[in-house]
Amino acid sequence: MKSFNLCRTDKQTVGESKQPSDMQTEREDEDDASVEEYVALSSFTGSGSDQLSFSRGDRLRVHAKPSSEWWWAELRGVIGYVPASYLRQEEEEEEDTSLEDPWQDEEYFGSYGTLRLHLEMLSDKSRTEAYRHVILSNSASLRNKVVIDLGCGTGIISLFCAQLAQPSEVYAVEASSMAEYTRQLVKQNGCEEVVTVLQGRAEEIELPEQVDVLVSEWMGNCLLFEFMVESVLLARDRWLKEGGVMWPSSAALTLVPCQANSYYAEKMAFWEQPYGLDFTPLQPLAQQEFFTKPKFSHLVEPDDCLATPCDVLCLDMYTLQVKDLEEIKGQFHYCVEKSGVFHGFTAWFTVHFESLETGGATVELNTGPFSEPTHWKQTLFMLDRPLSVYTGDSISGSILLCRNPVWRRHMTVTLHWSINSSTGETDKCQVGTKSFPMWR
Ligand code: SAH
Repeated sequence: MKSFNLCRTDKQTVGESKQPSDMQTEREDEDDASVEEYVALSSFTGSGSDQLSFSRGDRLRVHAKPSSEWWWAELRGVIGYVPASYLRQEEEEEEDTSLEDPWQDEEYFGSYGTLRLHLEMLSDKSRTEAYRHVILSNSASLRNKVVIDLGCGTGIISLFCAQLAQPSEVYAVEASSMAEYTRQLVKQNGCEEVVTVLQGRAEEIELPEQVDVLVSEWMGNCLLFEFMVESVLLARDRWLKEGGVMWPSSAALTLVPCQANSYYAEKMAFWEQPYGLDFTPLQPLAQQEFFTKPKFSHLVEPDDCLATPCDVLCLDMYTLQVKDLEEIKGQFHYCVEKSGVFHGFTAWFTVHFESLETGGATVELNTGPFSEPTHWKQTLFMLDRPLSVYTGDSISGSILLCRNPVWRRHMTVTLHWSINSSTGETDKCQVGTKSFPMWR
C-alpha cells in the first residue's frame, strides 16, 4: 500500500505556526475569557523547549490556536506548544468526532480511486514480485482454495492467483471506485470465472463462504501508518476458516541509529551562513518545521547505519488483536560499530509469507537499506541535536507506537534512548526522548 496524503495540510500548518515569542505578546493582551479548557485524550511527550508534555486526563488551558495542529497551552504554570488532536473539550465529546470522519475515508479511498498510487505500487517491482512469488511458489497448495484479496486495488494479486494457481474462487474486495475498473481488468484478462470483484469496505461486505487464504498488501509507512491492518484483522476474525492462512503471516519493524548528513545540512546547517549571513535565529523554527515529524521517503545508505539494525516489533498476523494496535512498545540495544554523528533513527519493515507447501521456503519482502529500494523507502526520525558517538558506545532504549485516539489512521512514535560511552566516562552518558506525530 502506498501512503496517500493524509498529511498534506498538516505539513503546511507547522511552517505557518507563529513563534512562541509572538504568541507571548498575544497572550499578554488577551483577557481570561478567551482561554479555553481542554482535556488530554492521551499522553504526549514534548520535544525541544517549546513543546509541553502532559498526561492523559490533564486539563490544559489553551491560550491560542496558531495553526490547526499546534496550539499554545498552559499546564500547571508551564506554557508551550501542544498537538491539538490530543485535546478535547469535555462537553463537546459527543459531537466532535462526528464533525469529521476520524478515518478520513473520503480522502483515503478517494486517493485510491485514481491511478497515481496504483501506478506507484505496481511500478514497485520488489513489492509486486514478492506477492507474485508467494503465489507461484505455493501454486500447488492453492488449488481449489478460496482466497480473499483484501484491498485488491487494480486486482493484481487476485489476477496472479487466477493465472498462476487454480483457486476455486478469489474474492477481490476494494472500497475505492477503482473496483469498477478492476472488474474490467479481470474480464479483459479472462479471469472472471475465478475472480469476483466486490466493491465495498471489507468490514461491510458479505461473502457466501469462509476463506482458506487471506492475502492483502496493507503495509504503510513505518509499517502501521494508515492502520489498514485493522481492516485485515477484522476480516480475518470474520472470514478466515479455522487453520486458514494469512499472507503476510508476520511483520517486523526494524530500527537503526544513523547519520543523515545531507538532510541535516540541507535543513539545519544551511542557516549557519547563507550568502555569508548568520541566519541561525531561524534554526529553532527549522527544527520545528523539518524535524518534528518523521521524514518519509528517506533512503538510508548502509554506510550511514551506525550499528547493526535491530527488530523492535514483531507482529504475528494470526494472533494480533485490534486492541493491541493502540500502544505497541519495543526495545533496542545497539553497539556502535563506527564513530560518526548520530542524527537520528531510520525505520523500515519486513513481512514474511509462510509457505503452504511442505518444506517450502518463506518469502520475505524487506524494505530496508540492504534490499532493493521499494516505494515505501524508509522513515527517518531526526533528533533535535546531532550527537557524536564512537565505536564501542552503546545506544539503548525503547520505541512506543501510540495510535491517535481520534484520528484512527495516525499515530505518534516516541523514542527514548540513552548513550553509554565505551570509555565509561559518566559525563558522556546522554539520555533523550522525542515524540514524532505521524501525522497527527
Ligand atoms: N492490492 C493492491 C492494492 C494495495 S493498496 C496492490 O497490491 O496493488 C491498498 C488497497 O486497499 C487500496 O486500493 C485501498 O483502497 C484498499 N482498502 C484499504 N482499506 C480497505 C477496506 N477496509 N476495505 C476495502 N478496501 C480497502
